[in-house]
Amino acid sequence: MVWKTLARHLLSRPPSPLGPDAALAKSLGARLEAAGRRRLGRALAIRHVAAGSCNGCELELRATQNLIYDLTQYGLTFTPSPRHADILLITGVAGVNMREAVAQTRAAMPDPAWVVAVGDCAVDGGVFTGSPAVAGGAAAFLPVDLLIAGCPPSPAQVLGGLLALVEAQSPPLAHPSRLG
Ligand code: SF4
Repeated sequence: MVWKTLARHLLSRPPSPLGPDAALAKSLGARLEAAGRRRLGRALAIRHVAAGSCNGCELELRATQNLIYDLTQYGLTFTPSPRHADILLITGVAGVNMREAVAQTRAAMPDPAWVVAVGDCAVDGGVFTGSPAVAGGAAAFLPVDLLIAGCPPSPAQVLGGLLALVEAQSPPLAHPSRLG
């Protein structure tokens, strides 16, 4: 009986409309896919490193892969392997213990690749600035191509930043360890 009532309610309810952020993110996702294909010949793959985050930024990033945002339809994926990644996306305060992990991840990525700091903590340490455990943002670890502020930034804000980066920037320089 309960299941019948539940099913009747679920089926009679109209589908949830997309929120404004999801609608904007979808349109940005389509443009990002096109920009990635122009620049790299394929959609973008992201290697994400949480370098001392509260997980608020991660929730917003993971939302891009859920059924509402569904940005995988534009080829935007998070890859577990840095060797398959075009973008190193860093969240969190840049805890000093994460310096080596971030450096090794970047060194394992093929060029060209971009480094993006997402969230106020990754931009400059945020409210945790001054702690001896905090390096003070991703730029304390390695050169950063893009800073996306917000606590946390929404998926559309992240997508907008990535689109601006891929469309506007010339191909990034080779990683210093690969020069000479
Ligand atoms: S920017 Fe805000 S949401 Fe993101 S890790 Fe820092 S405190 Fe958490």
